[in-house]
Amino acid sequence: MSEHRAPGRVKEVTSLANPLVKEIKALALKKFRDQQNAFMAEGLKLVIDALDLGWEIRTLIFAKAGLGNPTIEKVAARTVAAGGTVLEVSEKVLTSITRRDNPQMVVGVFAQRYLPLKDVRPKDGDVWVALDRVRDPGNLGTVIRTVDAVGARGVVLVGETTDPFSLETVRATMGSIFAVPVAKVTPEAFLNWRKGFSGLVVGTHLKGAVDYRSVDFSGKPVVLMMGNEQQGLPDTLAESCDRLLRIPQAGRADSLNLAVATGVMLYEIRRGALSLDARA
Ligand code: SAM
Repeated sequence: MSEHRAPGRVKEVTSLANPLVKEIKALALKKFRDQQNAFMAEGLKLVIDALDLGWEIRTLIFAKAGLGNPTIEKVAARTVAAGGTVLEVSEKVLTSITRRDNPQMVVGVFAQRYLPLKDVRPKDGDVWVALDRVRDPGNLGTVIRTVDAVGARGVVLVGETTDPFSLETVRATMGSIFAVPVAKVTPEAFLNWRKGFSGLVVGTHLKGAVDYRSVDFSGKPVVLMMGNEQQGLPDTLAESCDRLLRIPQAGRADSLNLAVATGVMLYEIRRGALSLDARA
């Protein structure tokens, strides 16, 4: 049952059969995320960060236990002011929406946002990561988080990829989904864009002949290209790289995990830009 409360768009919901709850629960499936052009993010801090960064909030859901919490009430007021809906729900409803026991007290539903490829214009010193057909949501989320942490500019998803707006990916980004621009393109569009890009494109490849530590990345725009978890980079993308780099390994493992390899590369590329004294 839902009942209207002041101000206008705040509703109390306790029933799992409520149509708004059903709509939000449907966001667990990519088909409905795409239909609604929306996604879910959990946690009060994340929702505040998203609002501060100008993301469009559609719905704010908070647990009854949050009633009277001034921070939550402020976020609720911001949601209403932005034209969104606020739902005050029972713990049962929140558990069902997030598919988690002990869910966070606050969940936000936001409009999805992709950066058009034409707006990916790396300047000197900028680093972008291009991911070829990334499959694993945990890997994608971890890469987005790491891109944020090292002060790289964004991520270009090339080809069929896992959804950056799935609950699992968003969770793995720990909020960085709101700070890191993401573009999504076909391999053809990427190769076309690459032709007009005069910076350095470095691919990572298990057959790469160049040690990743031997390259001077400073001063120029850099695109770091990472291969698919199972297959690595296809020839078309590998051939479009200026250099194919390898991270030396010892031991029995065939390769590093994609997100780990991306982290190693990003810290090398950004080595000169990062220090403990200041956030770049
Ligand atoms: N079986 C795949 C292959 O043959 O390429 C393994 C892919 S690996 C799990 C995923 C991606 O991480 C690779 O495509 C590459 O971009 C990067 N990677 C992992 N280990 C690497 C290494 N030692 N040197 C360079 N790149 C590496």
